Amino acid sequence: MARGRGRFRMRNAECCLVGNHGGRPARTLPARRTMRKGNEMKQLYDDLWQTSPEHPLSRFPNSQCHAYLLVREAGNVLFYSTGREAVGKVDDRADHDRIEELGGVSHLLLSHWHEASPSTRSIRERFNATLICQAREAPMVEKVAGVAPDTVFWERQTLLDGIEAVPTPGHTVGSACYLYRSPSGQTYLFTGDTIWPARGSWTSVTFEDDARQSTHRASLNLLAALDPTVVLPAISPSDPVVEVSSFEWRSAIQATLASLG
Ligand SMILES: [Zn+2]
Repeated sequence: MARGRGRFRMRNAECCLVGNHGGRPARTLPARRTMRKGNEMKQLYDDLWQTSPEHPLSRFPNSQCHAYLLVREAGNVLFYSTGREAVGKVDDRADHDRIEELGGVSHLLLSHWHEASPSTRSIRERFNATLICQAREAPMVEKVAGVAPDTVFWERQTLLDGIEAVPTPGHTVGSACYLYRSPSGQTYLFTGDTIWPARGSWTSVTFEDDARQSTHRASLNLLAALDPTVVLPAISPSDPVVEVSSFEWRSAIQATLASLG
């Protein structure tokens, strides 16, 4: 159960997918990138894989959650976590086996505690991975996953040889995004639930902020200054991976700011 302040105190994460607030249509990946054989991991780019879809929100059965495996010689990084499927329906063993075939996980980066699950602990233990999140998320990550983060960060900084951690509080008090300039030529931005595509536009929900959502707004304005070419949220009403131009990204930020009301 999420604890919040002001009028945006929320009961749980199910409100993540509320909202369709206009703005420019979001453009998802071309079809050649979206083919998936059954319920298995999908390769998005040379160095990036997406775990099979999970549908944890009973009120929004078409919603999708994924984790993303960045394959690197320096050690693979898993953004977010598997195991968010509704209680009793988790079946991420095949994903974990595929992750092992791809070289395992050296570091597991959460954008915020909503991504934590008992599978987070399983991944950490199976692959001897280092679990990382922003410091303010650590207590809830430990409560939900059953294991404390190994490392936390407070400020914007570069982690793990080229992955930039960008604190973006507002959705939760310790939400963070991660930016990575891939040798593939793409710049990946892992946004967690701070911003995601929804029904042809972009939106978000504020869980832990003041009544004016001023912290979340400041975080979105900070993100507008980044230059991603691919945005990879943790959750979306449909396939969440979107390629963007600079103009489209700034428009996405404006649409999300408008969606906050
Ligand atoms: Zn969330």
